[in-house]
Amino acid sequence: MGGNVINNGSRLRQSRPKSVSIVVPCYDEKDGIPELIRRCQKSASDVAGDDHEIVLVDDGSADGTWQAISLEVERRRNIVGIRLSRNFGKEVALTAGLSAATGELVLVIDADLQDAPELLSPMVEVMKREGADVVYGQRRTRAGESWFKTKSANIFYLLLKHASSLSIPADSADFKLMTSRVVKLIAQMPERDRFIRGMVASVGFKQVAFLYDRDQRISGQTKYPVSKLIRLAIDAFLAFSPILLRLSPASAALLVVAIVAVSVYSLYCWLYLEVVPGWSSLMISFLVVSFLELASLSIISEYIGRIYFGTKNRPLFIVDEIKRSAEL
Ligand code: UDP
Ligand code: MG
Repeated sequence: MGGNVINNGSRLRQSRPKSVSIVVPCYDEKDGIPELIRRCQKSASDVAGDDHEIVLVDDGSADGTWQAISLEVERRRNIVGIRLSRNFGKEVALTAGLSAATGELVLVIDADLQDAPELLSPMVEVMKREGADVVYGQRRTRAGESWFKTKSANIFYLLLKHASSLSIPADSADFKLMTSRVVKLIAQMPERDRFIRGMVASVGFKQVAFLYDRDQRISGQTKYPVSKLIRLAIDAFLAFSPILLRLSPASAALLVVAIVAVSVYSLYCWLYLEVVPGWSSLMISFLVVSFLELASLSIISEYIGRIYFGTKNRPLFIVDEIKRSAEL
């Protein structure tokens, strides 16, 4: 995870704590930066006055995004710019931003303004009313996104829901309002292949949906072509579901069924029909050897699964609140 910077959130989190932070990962978003900051700052001021910060993480852009951010840092108040050493991908950029954010409430938003910063105020209201720790945006509609992207996202969430023991909300975006305790937990999770939506769900506490309509990008192109979406989907499945590891045991189990069926069929042929000599023995030994291979693979995959989930170092449990009697 980029070494010290992520793990040493305290270095990033230097300024005096604010009541609201807005965290934005930016990758080649130069043209949108001024408008992005203007709208974020307006919205944050409506909620918290001057007591806010906008944290912009430049994820190794090559188009002058950093210059655009630097200009705004000089021109305006309450802006924090973080430049990563290269393109780490949105999930890591977001983590860097969360490590730096000091807000009691933290809003995460995309730089292309597909999620409106003006929703901060209604989201804060929902959070207060429901006593929630996370208010996550759930897309009612997605303007300007292809039929393929919308459909594949639906299928992805459906599969993930059945494959994972966590309830990762369908059609949720990274557009979220979180309390500082959730933000700190996410920033501290050391796993490398990050799927923030899943990680936020894994933290627990009260999480409520906030329905919204997703706008079109204000400028530039999507940074998520199909290949990157597939990568993200694989990360999500590997990190949150043991289903891929269970493929070898499942195929081994299927082979047992095949072995029994072929044996019964061979016996029947041997008794009642003419058969080519050697067919049954070849077939059965082939299936038995395949079974043995898959069975040993299954055992190895169980071990690897344990090691993999173990090395994530996710906390075993997270305490919501502790009460003590007065004399303690
Ligand atoms: N992004 C990033 N690093 C990347 C890719 C994307 O920081 O490697 C940012 C990007 O600038 C934007 C957000 O992640 O703020 C979402 O990306 P995009 O809008 O391209 O995704 P889409 O909305 O098309 O799924
Ligand atoms: Mg976008």
